Amino acid sequence: MRSKAARAVMVFLALLPGPALAGLPSPGRLVQVIVVVWDGAQRNHVQEMLDSHALPNLEAMIGNGGLWRADMVIHTTACEVGDGDGYTTMTCPAMAALVTGYGYPLNHCYSNGRCGTLADGTSIFERMKTFDPDIRTGMITSHSLTCWPSPVLDAAAEALDVQYHDLDVSGNSTTIRGLQFVDAYRRDPFLLVLHYGGPDFQGHSRGENSEQYDTILMVNDGGLGRIRARLADLGMARSTILLVTADHGFEEGAKNHVGCLDDDRNLWIASSRAAAIGNLAAPAWQTSMAPTIFDLFGMSKDVLPPFGAESLVLWEN
Ligand SMILES: [Zn+2]
Ligand SMILES: [Zn+2]
Repeated sequence: MRSKAARAVMVFLALLPGPALAGLPSPGRLVQVIVVVWDGAQRNHVQEMLDSHALPNLEAMIGNGGLWRADMVIHTTACEVGDGDGYTTMTCPAMAALVTGYGYPLNHCYSNGRCGTLADGTSIFERMKTFDPDIRTGMITSHSLTCWPSPVLDAAAEALDVQYHDLDVSGNSTTIRGLQFVDAYRRDPFLLVLHYGGPDFQGHSRGENSEQYDTILMVNDGGLGRIRARLADLGMARSTILLVTADHGFEEGAKNHVGCLDDDRNLWIASSRAAAIGNLAAPAWQTSMAPTIFDLFGMSKDVLPPFGAESLVLWEN
């Protein structure tokens, strides 16, 4: 039998929180994560709008204990198979990579024209339900292509508690459904992805430097503000981790993003909690999103096939 002192030490150790930093939930605690994707939001453009205070809600999130990283990329130089993550700078492969942590061919999607359904069990949603069936999952998107969300997400459909898509360019319905998700599951662990197609739509139709491209980014920023306000109203502002990013960039002054240029591959990521993406020693790739989310939920990153990217979470110890 252990001595009283030894037992006291063990009790004390059991009460110590696990590795945690600056407001990150410790393992075993309620974890709620919202990923916001602004489709086709070029890094330099978003940076310039932040600098001119045109995105006040994103700015407030970053300034209020969050972090902005301008070093995220689609991890490839030529967007060719075998070169890094090896997929093109298009929505379907990018979203497939974001929700699996895999590049091509593991994500089954090379380009919008060459894209299938994810392999069974490889989406973060399926892995999350296997880890803990009580985690609520949602994918709400205002972008619809022949490859997205179907067939990419077909295999993951049963692992999504809420799946919805429309073509509301404003993203208003995406925000409203996001708010409904938060209201419904505020007491549960959850992962919610809100994918706004508006910037991509305006970039293609009016160009990257158009007034309409600016306007839709400001509208999407307003949506972020509504989400943050609701989290604050529900007392969830501290506990819920927001991650905001883009699926791909946009070519400077142009109406496309498929050339695999720097402006296409360069991404950015912002979080409401600096520590959630604070591991600056890890390269920030689009495929880092899945291991980062796994880390936040306390899920093992030791998956098959193995992740190629590291988690961006900075644990304290
Ligand atoms: Zn896109
Ligand atoms: Zn596009």
